[in-house]
Amino acid sequence: MTDAARPRTMEEIDALCAARAASPRPDEPYPYAGPLARHVRDGDRRLLRLAYDPAPASLRLWNFLLTEEDRLREARAAGHKLVGAMKDLGTVTVLAYAYPRVTAFYLDGAWWIPCIMEMSEGLLGVASAHGAGEGMCPVRAMLGAFVTRRHFPIPDLLVSSVGAVCDDLSAVAQRLESLGHPILWWEMPARRAPEPGEPAVPLPGGLRAPASQVALVRSELGRVRRALDGLAGHALTDAELAAGIRAANAVRARLDALREIVFTAPACPLPALEHQIAEMLVIHFCSDRDETLRVYDALLDEVRARVAAGTAVLPADAVRVFWVNPVADLRAMNLLEACGGRLCGTEFLFCHALDPLPEGVEPMEALARAALADPMVGPASDRAARIAADARRFGAEAVVVSRIPGASHCAWEGEAIAGAVRDRLGLPVAEIEVPPLTDALAPSIRSRLEALVETARARRRR
Ligand code: SF4
Repeated sequence: MTDAARPRTMEEIDALCAARAASPRPDEPYPYAGPLARHVRDGDRRLLRLAYDPAPASLRLWNFLLTEEDRLREARAAGHKLVGAMKDLGTVTVLAYAYPRVTAFYLDGAWWIPCIMEMSEGLLGVASAHGAGEGMCPVRAMLGAFVTRRHFPIPDLLVSSVGAVCDDLSAVAQRLESLGHPILWWEMPARRAPEPGEPAVPLPGGLRAPASQVALVRSELGRVRRALDGLAGHALTDAELAAGIRAANAVRARLDALREIVFTAPACPLPALEHQIAEMLVIHFCSDRDETLRVYDALLDEVRARVAAGTAVLPADAVRVFWVNPVADLRAMNLLEACGGRLCGTEFLFCHALDPLPEGVEPMEALARAALADPMVGPASDRAARIAADARRFGAEAVVVSRIPGASHCAWEGEAIAGAVRDRLGLPVAEIEVPPLTDALAPSIRSRLEALVETARARRRR
């Protein structure tokens, strides 16, 4: 690792930015720029405990992520309608962004607020007081954010899938509705394999589903489209929707290129923490699709330059780890690298938002197929097969399945995934639980990760 790529503290990053801005050739100015310290003053205290990539492109990524709530307020002030989507992670927002003057975001993302603010905001306590207690996944922070109204603006329209969704999100969304926030529910069936001889349709990601299920989802998304027409005061045309799908695919193509370089480069060109954040942008473009494209382009320029120069952010012998499930505490990504690992493949619950949407079919059909490819609406065996295939493709040497405390989807799925990876690839697998703040558990998480890395290194010597 060169000093230029050495991870920095937040204070070092801000000093670096100030020095760059004062230089005769300041970095290209970009929207949302500013010192990370301003977010700490607003309560984002976790920023003080993270290690950052010093590249200007990575700073641009952080500033983009951390200014989303302001961006949503500005969008509303500019006359945009706000859509709060839940659970489908990558379909309803593609539809919503096809409209002029509509900004959509996933409320599920609130589950990082307790981490970023180190619990100082009290959202989980508020959620508990409203019936969503500690036995549930941190997505219950969303409920607290609605009650306190101190985070994102309350959307003009709430949309949630129902049916093949986890109990936690379903319970929280129902509680929201009982508190006076009406929700447009749309039905998502549990995806199943087509029966022999049953008409079937290919889905993104290589799956197939019965044509009848795709038709059902298409019809349900048609209800969402009509509601959006009413909200926006604009009857969306198929041509506009097709353009929205092409725009989403442009974003997905950039993320795909980033993943390919980061996961396959001989030495790691982008830290795991920044990579995870970058992946998150794809589901609702962090409420600014154009800036998402520019952030990806800047990251791509950076990682290509680093690979060409042979510059790495980690030692060349770091163990290649495939990571399953997002981490409630972002610091876990720093921990992985401190233990000798590097990210080499991910499945953060939304691989269907990474795959290109079909462009050769009617646009509503494309959305329906993409929605049904969601790994969380099908059997765990489908998800495990995709993880094993991607882990093989990226040359993973070990797999981490991180569990989310209280998350109903984690109850048995982790075991199924771990079993499939061991059976198909023979790789060592570690299951770890990552709460919103890992500080108290850091020693045990660290020893699990170190043991995994050591096991993978020992396999190299065989
Ligand atoms: S239980 Fe799992 S799928 Fe459901 S909201 Fe929590 S993390 Fe997401």
